[in-house]
Amino acid sequence: MKEKAAQPSFSFEDEHERWMRLALEQARQAEAMGEVPVGAVLVRHGEVIGQGHNRVITLNDPSAHAEIMALRDAGARENNYRLPESTLYVTLEPCLMCAGALIHARIKQLVFSTSDPKTGVIDTVDHAFQRSYHNHHIAVHSGVLATDSARMLRDFFAARRQRRNADS
Ligand SMILES: [Zn+2]
Repeated sequence: MKEKAAQPSFSFEDEHERWMRLALEQARQAEAMGEVPVGAVLVRHGEVIGQGHNRVITLNDPSAHAEIMALRDAGARENNYRLPESTLYVTLEPCLMCAGALIHARIKQLVFSTSDPKTGVIDTVDHAFQRSYHNHHIAVHSGVLATDSARMLRDFFAARRQRRNADS
């Protein structure tokens, strides 16, 4: 057990949860559009510089994942395709495409919520950031508000199955 009284009032975990709640808000927006609920926000020096949610169906765009939408939003706002010193918060473990984009954007840290057993390449089906050919290192923190993100995804897929069954 950690000594609670010795902890400073500021905690990184609280900070991570605060930003992850905004990513969850983004995920809810995706859900409202009938998209798989995944949301992301990009934060630098305590400020949101980009946000987005999954829009692959709405945009007919396989690259319109939440992470990519947040990077595009930040890139346009910052007028720069590189986003150093930033932290990306996303509700689901990134896929291979998004992991690559995060490296290209030179973000500093990735914080994700729940793991993706099918396409999560950070520490589930692969360890994409640990490949020796990358010349940029991204720190990773996972499991922040994982129960909330997992529940949102589970409820979404359950409702979709139910609708499909009702239609058939
Ligand atoms: Zn992705």
